[in-house]
Amino acid sequence: MSVQVLAAEMAEVELKDVPSKELTPESPLTTKADDKGIVESEPKAVVTSATTPTMEPIVKTGDPSPGFLTPNTKMPQASAMKRTDPQQNGGEAFVNRDGTVAEAPRLKKQIQFADQKQEFNKRPTKIGRRSLSRSISQSSTDSYGSAASYTDSSDDETSPRDKQQKNSKGNGDFCIKNIKQADFGRREIEIAEQEMPALMALRKRAQGEKPLAGAKVVGCTHITAQTAVLMETLSALGAQCRWAACNIYSTQNEVAAALAEGGFSVFAWKGESEDDFWWCIDRCVNLEGWQPNMILDDGGDLTHWIYKKYPNMFKKIKGIVEESVTGVHRLYQLSKAGKLCVPAMNVNDSVTKQKFDNLYCCRESILDGLKRTTDVMFGGKQVVVCGYGEVGKGCCAALKAMGSIVYVTEIDPICALQACMDGFRLVKLNEVIRQVDIVITCTGNKNVVVREYLDRMKNGCIVCNMGHSNTEIDVASLRTPELTWERVRSQVDHVIWPDGKRIVLLAEGRLLNLSCSTVPTFVLSITATTQALALIELYNAPEGRYKQDVYLLPKKMDEYVASLHLPTFDAHLTELSDEQAKYLGLNKNGPFKPNYYR
Ligand code: NAD
Repeated sequence: MSVQVLAAEMAEVELKDVPSKELTPESPLTTKADDKGIVESEPKAVVTSATTPTMEPIVKTGDPSPGFLTPNTKMPQASAMKRTDPQQNGGEAFVNRDGTVAEAPRLKKQIQFADQKQEFNKRPTKIGRRSLSRSISQSSTDSYGSAASYTDSSDDETSPRDKQQKNSKGNGDFCIKNIKQADFGRREIEIAEQEMPALMALRKRAQGEKPLAGAKVVGCTHITAQTAVLMETLSALGAQCRWAACNIYSTQNEVAAALAEGGFSVFAWKGESEDDFWWCIDRCVNLEGWQPNMILDDGGDLTHWIYKKYPNMFKKIKGIVEESVTGVHRLYQLSKAGKLCVPAMNVNDSVTKQKFDNLYCCRESILDGLKRTTDVMFGGKQVVVCGYGEVGKGCCAALKAMGSIVYVTEIDPICALQACMDGFRLVKLNEVIRQVDIVITCTGNKNVVVREYLDRMKNGCIVCNMGHSNTEIDVASLRTPELTWERVRSQVDHVIWPDGKRIVLLAEGRLLNLSCSTVPTFVLSITATTQALALIELYNAPEGRYKQDVYLLPKKMDEYVASLHLPTFDAHLTELSDEQAKYLGLNKNGPFKPNYYR
């Protein structure tokens, strides 16, 4: 079968500096080429029809990049995409055809660093550890990622910190729940590999080549089978990895065991206390004779810890890759305060991340989360979804498909109109709160469901949140003496009113899918591939390409990551003819959409 070259020649993309006169208070974001006017070149994706993808980066003469997979090739650079803090200055990016970029305003959010105290000597008791977990840092409980472990290790109550474990090779540089679960974890990882085609392709392509040779990556992400595929890919590309969990609940213990058995220094288990959480992070970085030179963070806790405890480490760190909303906020804060001392890549705002994590991931996982916790039947149920952004759209689509009657609340007339066009009734919450069977928040806002609404809900109403932070439902207002809380299942509480009415509160208002279900591997594949490419780019970037600032990955990188996933579907991409490309004013090889495209 003939080979179809999808991108025979990748375009050079040069985004111009935004002239300051073009910036208005409404459009404060800028995207620009770096000061050296670095021009990016792209790998071309070569797809053999109905077969696995191969990647073929093309050579750019005079390109300073050392390349990532072959000596003369390079990845799309993020250097052309740089922006200011969107949380401080705005939200969506608007790119004009001439390459100028502006960003529309969005809700300003207050982000605070959890000012943790580290007292490893004062080890808490088991009960103490549990109670500490209530006050853990925001991202460690609320950040989004894959979810529950299939194993329930509650039978083994000994804290991993009190155990001496070694893998079959005698290596004990890890702290996990139970190394004996390694075989089971390996099977989980192998299953995940099937749905992570781009990472597997990266591994194959690397073969002899080690674009991350010498890289010492310290990571703090959800430790799941999907992360394991990423870590093993980084390792195949030459990196050494030490890893902690970014969330106290999301570690798959068996996967952590498989990683430890495979020689990775992993410090994580499901159900860590806050003290454990910071201890694990510390064990990753505080090691005689080993210093990280790259950070892969999800939520910013690891970065923050190094800033607080080991600021000198940044002398050797070449860059930070951050995937979460929260972590990116923190980086922009640091940048704004002039305290960011290394370049950082904002993976969160990549189109592929947003589109897939938010929309498609939630479309699939909302049903899973509700079903696992409540066994609810969706057909005919009345559901109100608060917020019709990407997450809301995904939730509504899934519920509608299951035969639920779906109402939407919105504050933004455009999203509201979209909801109407999609066939949903747009209502105010107080209009339907008495009648609905399920309430789902996905606004990214706070106090959307307040006590007044909770009081008016009908008996048995299920209340849950799909937004990042656990402030969308005013759970604190339910902790009053007249209400009784009954834990009926893991992550399921009945809150009972004096008259006997009870509502079903899921995950105490934290992200439902994070806390109670899993997230589709394919979605995580897209994000993980972007993370891997960002690490490779930052690690190999010559001195001066990136400054001490936060960078977005170029649009073409998104397109490239997407193209690597297309063969999974035997998808046949149409190639622009020269005439069509000229007509649309595009390069045949992309980028095909402006940078603001979502
Ligand atoms: P978005 O900005 O696209 O959508 C949020 C919508 O909520 C907006 O349209 C906004 O107008 C609306 N809104 C704000 N306040 C409201 C209010 N008081 N009442 C009704 N509507 C209101 O954001 P998104 O991408 O949909 O993400 C929403 C939240 O979900 C964020 O916190 C995000 O971090 C989180 N998230 C969750 C997951 C997950 O797997 N659960 C995945 C990605 C993102």
